[in-house]
Amino acid sequence: MIRARRARIVATLGPASQEAGRVAQLAAAGADVFRVNFSHGLHDDHARTIANVRAAEAHVGRPLAVLADLQGPKIRLGEFADGTVRLKVGQDFRLDVSGEPGDSSRVGVPLAEVFSVLRPGSDILLDDGKVRLRVRRNGPGFAETEVLVGEQLSDHKGLNLPGHAIPIPALTAKDREDLAFALKQNVDWVALSFVQRASDMAELRQIVQGRAAVLAKIEKPAALDALDEILDLCDGVMVARGDLGVELNPEDVPVVQKSLIRSARTRGIPVIVATQMLESMIHAPTPTRAEASDVAGAVYEGADAVMLSAETAAGDYPVEAVTIMNRILTRVEQDPRWPELMRAEYPVDDADADALVAAASRAAQATPTACIVAFTTTGQTALRLARERPLQPIMALTPHHHTARRLALVWGVETRLTPDISDPEDLARLAVEQAVSAELARPNQRVIILAGLPMGSPGAANILRIAHAPKH
Ligand code: PGA
Ligand code: MN
Repeated sequence: MIRARRARIVATLGPASQEAGRVAQLAAAGADVFRVNFSHGLHDDHARTIANVRAAEAHVGRPLAVLADLQGPKIRLGEFADGTVRLKVGQDFRLDVSGEPGDSSRVGVPLAEVFSVLRPGSDILLDDGKVRLRVRRNGPGFAETEVLVGEQLSDHKGLNLPGHAIPIPALTAKDREDLAFALKQNVDWVALSFVQRASDMAELRQIVQGRAAVLAKIEKPAALDALDEILDLCDGVMVARGDLGVELNPEDVPVVQKSLIRSARTRGIPVIVATQMLESMIHAPTPTRAEASDVAGAVYEGADAVMLSAETAAGDYPVEAVTIMNRILTRVEQDPRWPELMRAEYPVDDADADALVAAASRAAQATPTACIVAFTTTGQTALRLARERPLQPIMALTPHHHTARRLALVWGVETRLTPDISDPEDLARLAVEQAVSAELARPNQRVIILAGLPMGSPGAANILRIAHAPKH
């Protein structure tokens, strides 16, 4: 049941994978977190999908998390009368707020704010940058443009304005409805797309009220300018390379990825590297070697998790994609140089570390230790421990389902549900028992235990104990 790897896998569910049998297969193949993408699908479908994840959890015997991904203020084109139109470079093309179906000379954009930030000479990217328009003239509710790049457009393609922060709220009316639904479904994580400023996350937190952990998708350059303030309000973060890459130059993306991973690791919040990781597996049973290398790179950088999007949501080989990802993660972590490389990205100075947690991690490195067991109510102790990236497995024990599931996204943490214990004398017995039953400790091996007393009240760990698994 215990995976031979620390990095985690996020699999997006969709038409290719949301049925019960498939979800169970993805979990068995190694998926830890399941993303439900609210940019697509209906609430009824999402409710069934979430139920399927909960059912799969019972099969695999380890906690699985559901991550609800809110669409956020993504700007999209309206519809075309024929669904698709052809474009020619150099031709005129008009965008306006009219709800009329579009043709090869114009299309609607249902958001007047777009036109208020444009200037003559501004570029507009459509369909993830496949089409580029340059504004010649604009006014309230319209822009006349020239097609610089692109051949085709179709219904609802995305629209980006590089370099412009658009004055629109973080959560659309749809996001608010989706969020209320997701919270009612008891999802474990909520991700907000197109975060631009810290107040966007504050708004999300205000509604969520601790009922789920919250995560910012970093996919706008504007978010990079306010990163520290944004991360202060996050329980996790996603390097959303798809949309981020539309507005950044290709050469900037790996640099931003590394810097985001460092920021998240310094804070001790989980970081997901997302998008196009095994893109070619949407239509092929094996990845390109460059893709394998990209996934491996994220593991060497010490990311908590890597994500599959269309590969599992809509691709022809969803189970194969998770299987390959699992193999790549496992293989990297067997590289004798991996710990050193992964730790080179660990910029934490000791003054900033939780002393007892750092001591536990150091004690585990100093003398042969089978695993570190953390009793945790909110998950904080397990998170602090994961931040140290110890090479011994981390076992988190918690009486709370929601804590166990949230931790499914976190590097190296194996979580089990245990009954609440009131007698501190039970600590060592329970820790050793769980470590042995999860096959993390064999007879006579040393186990390091971290806990906070009194048990059950959230707060920093204040007990460090060493115990041994019983001889046969
Ligand atoms: P998306 O987000 O898949 O919801 O667009 C991820 C990304 O943009 O990389
Ligand atoms: Mn995106």
